[in-house]
Amino acid sequence: MSFSSETKAELCRVETERSCCQRAECYGLFLFGGGFSAADVSFLTESAPVARRAAQEAAVVAGVFVETVSAIVRRGGKTTFSVSIRGENQRLHFLHCFAHHSQEWNLRIHEENLQTECCVQAFLRGAFLCCGTVTAPEKGYDLEFSVPYMKLAGDLSALLSRAGGLGLQPGMVNRKGRFIVYVKGGESVADLLTYLGAKNASMELMQAKMLKEMRNNLNRRNNFETANIDKTASAAARQLLAIERIMGTVGLDALPEELREIAALRWENPELSLRELGEHLSQPLSRSGVNHRLRRIVEFAEHNGDS
Ligand SMILES: [Zn+2]
Repeated sequence: MSFSSETKAELCRVETERSCCQRAECYGLFLFGGGFSAADVSFLTESAPVARRAAQEAAVVAGVFVETVSAIVRRGGKTTFSVSIRGENQRLHFLHCFAHHSQEWNLRIHEENLQTECCVQAFLRGAFLCCGTVTAPEKGYDLEFSVPYMKLAGDLSALLSRAGGLGLQPGMVNRKGRFIVYVKGGESVADLLTYLGAKNASMELMQAKMLKEMRNNLNRRNNFETANIDKTASAAARQLLAIERIMGTVGLDALPEELREIAALRWENPELSLRELGEHLSQPLSRSGVNHRLRRIVEFAEHNGDS
């Protein structure tokens, strides 16, 4: 599962306690899908939890029936769900619930649906669930909303820049006829994920960022002081310190053969999980196998790492 899908699944577990927020999230979920008129209220998603949540919310909030159809897209074998409101009467009722008309040439965010800060938060969560993506932490720190209309994208950007006092500075680009509203940078993306309710995704991102920075700092340093390894340093951080110590003294070639590849791999990819590390080895290893070897590397550094 991609980082985006995991994040969306996590957001779909957020419980919206207040009815005003459930309504605002539902609004965000459908407004950014491309169809928001009497002829068509629909969006496509690759996330089953998102499709389910949209159907539930539309039923609770507006009393409309949502049809969810799944289809396997040939390339990549991904399943895509089409989420749509059937019947013109139902669609009109749904639009009126959010103070929209049957046909609007310039679709905008109607802010009367977002009266309090809690609703802004829920609305942005809905928007992300509908049209958002977030880059996996090992590849960078980008969160994007792919919006079908320019003015709608402008409204979203304005809303993001004042959301939750986060001080976000969203950018906008036109890509293949869609308007991409994006937030860049580890801290901004992590803040926004936390704000939307994806605390685990946010923590994963910050952890990956911390490990990468640590590896880069170690790379830059000539003399490594062994003192003061923080007791709270994570397992991955301890592994990086051990590998750095071996490289700076006896060299990685001094390691037993079965530990060399994994040591190099860990050094290059500080943010990978144990499972992912195992999958990247020339001979794949289970999570516990990887864990065992990394422990041996840490022990090796303790016994052989002193020059
Ligand atoms: Zn609310």
